[in-house]
Amino acid sequence: MTDAFDAATMDAAAIDAAWEERILPTLCEYTRIPCLSPAYDPDWSERGAITGAAELLLAWVRDQDAALQAEIVTLPGRTPVLLVDNGGSGDPIVVYGHMDKQPPLGEWRSGLGPYEPVREGDVLYGRGTADDGYSVFAAVTGLLAAGGGHGRVLILIEASEESGSPDLAAHLENLKDRIGTPRLVICLDSGGLSYDRLWLTTSLRGVLVADVRVDVLTEGIHSGQGGGVVPSSFRILRRMLSNIEDEATGRIVLPELLGAGIPASHRANIEALAEEFPESAAPVVEGLHLLTPDPVDRLVARTWGAALEVTGADGLPKPRDGGNVLRPSTTLKLSLRLPPDVDAQAASDALISAIRTDEGAHVTIDLEAAGQGWIAPPLDPATAATLSAVSRERFGRDFASVGEGGSIPFLPDLQKGFPGTPFVATGVLGPHSNAHGPNEALHIPMAKAVTQAVAALLGSAG
Ligand SMILES: [Zn+2]
Repeated sequence: MTDAFDAATMDAAAIDAAWEERILPTLCEYTRIPCLSPAYDPDWSERGAITGAAELLLAWVRDQDAALQAEIVTLPGRTPVLLVDNGGSGDPIVVYGHMDKQPPLGEWRSGLGPYEPVREGDVLYGRGTADDGYSVFAAVTGLLAAGGGHGRVLILIEASEESGSPDLAAHLENLKDRIGTPRLVICLDSGGLSYDRLWLTTSLRGVLVADVRVDVLTEGIHSGQGGGVVPSSFRILRRMLSNIEDEATGRIVLPELLGAGIPASHRANIEALAEEFPESAAPVVEGLHLLTPDPVDRLVARTWGAALEVTGADGLPKPRDGGNVLRPSTTLKLSLRLPPDVDAQAASDALISAIRTDEGAHVTIDLEAAGQGWIAPPLDPATAATLSAVSRERFGRDFASVGEGGSIPFLPDLQKGFPGTPFVATGVLGPHSNAHGPNEALHIPMAKAVTQAVAALLGSAG
């Protein structure tokens, strides 16, 4: 990196105009495509939605500047990657995003729907707008706004992120000669606590996802016949969950899932932020007690804590269909957040050994690939100055840093291969952006600012 880029010379008005005139119409088209991540659409290949999204984005990229080398990279049995190369020389700056989506999840507000883009003022609603459809538009527009002289830039948009990036390693291996040793990695799949400054991500949590099925009968029977005699598959699963978490407090009890605790520098940053952000943005019901009422503890828990949620179930009828029976089986889908420093593979092994029963029931575990957490390498002063300049120009205040509670498998994967490479993880996700939930929303001024940050970071790279 060379000197900090002078953000004042960056044409913010041109970036804003590009968003309004060139980006939003195509982002709306992308919103209409149900390009679910492969974990939520095993038939994605036949359905063609991911390919359709990739082709839409590819056509848009080619439309922006015919000199950009843009292509859809395919590998057998894998989701594709959209790759954009500016044709520069030397080791590249890699800009990362993804085009696959989470499922709709639940009821959307009246007038909104996952696949119907709706703009209300500064906000564009729709699945995948903020997570992470905007990324390719921000990356390409930032690249073009940066002008020349910044060497090689590779924009890599994958399509398996929401499934834990199972296809990414194969693509990175396939592209390793083109990627070389990146000079800088910019990840556009993150966010922060507000929309009044740029946010830099200092850490990410890991994730474990497992389907656990318990079978007790070969077919359901009258509960008057079996109740009190045949063990309930639900109770056996409930006992297993108690091996993982304390059901009274929600605290995780498996030591392999807990990590060494938050480092002092990260804690000091959170203590400063907690004064400014004392409230949780979660849409809790009236009167709900949070697990961690203290603002510092809450931010620590959100960024460095472990937590369990049951995110799906099978073998359980809807209440109106539930008869007085002993059901043959119960399946629960478990989703565990892991602290950034936890070894996801060791956590995964510990989880498997915690899922056990001495009651003779048949237990099946289907574990997705473990997602490793991430701790950002220290930020170099020139990059910090560039982010600061853009944040001040856009918002009149400096950027801030915070850990994020989600996972981006790309970052630990790539950092393991390139321990000396600087990383900038940022993005548009903030309060009410509802990535993964209903009413997902892209904050358009934030997207414009992030685009300008990409331009400035590329423009400042010699
Ligand atoms: Zn994402």
